[in-house]
Amino acid sequence: MSTPWFSHLVRSDLATVEAYVPHAGHFAVRLDANESPHLLSSEAHARLAEVLGSAALNRYPDVNAVELREAIAARAKCSVEEVIAGTGSDEVIALLLGALDRPRDKNPRARIVTTTPTFVMYRLSAKVRGIDVVEVPLDNAWNLDVSGVKRAIEFARPNIVFIATPNNPTGNCMAEDRLRQVIAAAPDTLFVLDEAYADFSSTNVQHLRHEFPNVALLGTISKIGFAALRVGWLIGPRDLVHELHKLRQPYNIPVPSQRAATFVLRQLQDEVARLVKHVVRERERMTEELERVGFRVVPSQTNFVWIATNRPATEVFDGLASQGILVRSFAKHGGRLAQRLRVTVGTQNENDRFLETIARFV
Ligand code: PMP
Repeated sequence: MSTPWFSHLVRSDLATVEAYVPHAGHFAVRLDANESPHLLSSEAHARLAEVLGSAALNRYPDVNAVELREAIAARAKCSVEEVIAGTGSDEVIALLLGALDRPRDKNPRARIVTTTPTFVMYRLSAKVRGIDVVEVPLDNAWNLDVSGVKRAIEFARPNIVFIATPNNPTGNCMAEDRLRQVIAAAPDTLFVLDEAYADFSSTNVQHLRHEFPNVALLGTISKIGFAALRVGWLIGPRDLVHELHKLRQPYNIPVPSQRAATFVLRQLQDEVARLVKHVVRERERMTEELERVGFRVVPSQTNFVWIATNRPATEVFDGLASQGILVRSFAKHGGRLAQRLRVTVGTQNENDRFLETIARFV
């Protein structure tokens, strides 16, 4: 491509960033994106269709998404002023980076600290906004390295520390005492604890929000069956939420998404509980079976499993892909990720097909 006429106007950081592109192509079994399998009952489906069908499409959405935020607040047992909703937690991450982007101390640009490996959007979203990213490797058990994070905070003076717990792609939770240590060490830094997968976990960190004023939580309905709606949220201090509202587009969440997500959170709790039960049961079965045939698997608290392969992960990935099964390979990252695959829990049939196929690549 020749250099476009406007290149002198584009933020230089963009040149080093690649757009997020999910794997292309047709695959009969897609276990690559941590979506949930389609397990909604036909009754719930019909009720949801009714909710969507009665939406007035000629009007703009509720600018404050009040009903949706009330439903989120009721679920999180907090007040509606402590909630901001976005088109996925991806948008909320972008809002945080937009609002808290003033360089502190002698930093030429604002900085964030996060772990590695972790969810890619903290880094991507920061980079495209001209915010520097300091990544602290997780320890050998994929847990938080307390002294590493503390050192990074001291040296980098970040505005925000992003930590996913349970973490993507490793599937485990960060130890709570370690979280406490890093949060307490930097009371003038915002800690964003991303609980995208907390529905599948035996523990959560919601209570830390009450103990530390510098903690905010992220949540989403993408992993519990409703990724298509693009609804996620932040729960945090009112004054922070108040600032974030100024940055979002007034009508950021479309009417169908506001209505359907509100309905899901208020009325479909049993359906979601059933889905979570299925995923957790299948996750444990996949873990056992994978270990039985010779793979190492990190005990997961999410809707996916993090697998160590005995040969380059690309070989296993290509073998699965040739049989119509798409998973996520981390081989391109090299180092300790060179032999790692992340596999989303699917329907029982999909998981069977995956397990039968991967057993040929031990
Ligand atoms: N946080 C984490 C840790 C994730 O893994 C994901 C999805 N991959 C998200 C947030 C994004 O969620 P949403 O669909 O709500 O934007």
